[in-house]
Amino acid sequence: MRTQSFCHVRKSAVSIGETRPGFVGYRQSMANDSNIATVSCRFCSAANRFPIDKALLDLTKVVCGSCKEKLLRVSGEPLTDLDSADIAHPWDREALAKFKAIPYVEEILSKVLGSTFDRMHLFRHTASSLKVSPRQAPRLHRLYLEAAGRLDVDPPPLFIVQSPHVNAYTTGAGQPIVGITTALVDMLDDRGLVGVLGHELAHVKLGHVLFRTLAVLLANGALKVLNLAGLANLALGPVKMLLFKWYQMSELSADRGELVATGSLTTHVRTHMMLAGGTAKIADELDVAAFVDQANDAEALRDGDIFVSIMEMFDNQDRSHPLLVWRVHHALAWSRTQAFFDVLAGKGPRARIASK
Ligand SMILES: [Zn+2]
Ligand SMILES: [Zn+2]
Repeated sequence: MRTQSFCHVRKSAVSIGETRPGFVGYRQSMANDSNIATVSCRFCSAANRFPIDKALLDLTKVVCGSCKEKLLRVSGEPLTDLDSADIAHPWDREALAKFKAIPYVEEILSKVLGSTFDRMHLFRHTASSLKVSPRQAPRLHRLYLEAAGRLDVDPPPLFIVQSPHVNAYTTGAGQPIVGITTALVDMLDDRGLVGVLGHELAHVKLGHVLFRTLAVLLANGALKVLNLAGLANLALGPVKMLLFKWYQMSELSADRGELVATGSLTTHVRTHMMLAGGTAKIADELDVAAFVDQANDAEALRDGDIFVSIMEMFDNQDRSHPLLVWRVHHALAWSRTQAFFDVLAGKGPRARIASK
């Protein structure tokens, strides 16, 4: 399958300043070059302007110059009225819109999948995994509710799946369910778990689940099992290519949801570092800034060698997710935008109400 390469996104995306405190000296051309964010205080309505670099050092310490209350909601508070457009990556939005514009695609999709798929998956998970609830794994349940509050979404059923593979997923046609493997639960701390659960809930929030389910079914040949090979090969041929391309893009939006869920850049980078090669055993010895340096190294290696660059482009075609270092690039770039601060300050919903 051919999917869009991330090679062309930008050059020299990341640089770390001499006096970096962690990784916040991060720079990217896609980010807010002015380095100034503007936020209205939700308590006294005073307009506040502050340097983004400084704010990113510790988002919990950004306070109103007038009333001294915290300007940003980053400590687990629900982000009521969060709009999916607030976190959707433009590449996700554009690709999904093109996909939806193909005639009959949604009709075919709902006919092929329908509620049978949902019931089947709910049965499979109920019969063989652990359903999280206030009684069952209550700590994880609390973290899940926190993530759902941050993403302003009704949480679907969550299951812990016994598996040595580090993974979390959301599946379904109309009634999604979220799964997280035991390996991932073991690997991450509580903040990391809020993040990955927020990532999955962002897929729900953004209306990704139905289309991602179709992509997975097409990729693993499940539709052939359903005796729909003809349909899959003929009617869905062009859709398939577009769908796989979009599947990667949708991860960038879900990563934004992950960042919003925790409100912590450190947690976000740390989680992706753990996914790259972390284990609970050495978690204390891992360094977030060193991983951002490694992301710089990866970019230099790719951009400095045409063959590596071409190989990366072809490798990318068979990948379900963008490479971890590029995902970190994109999330950090977004954290340097006014849009990110609008979400944390709650400006988006207020602006929408005011415009009604
Ligand atoms: Zn104030
Ligand atoms: Zn995802």
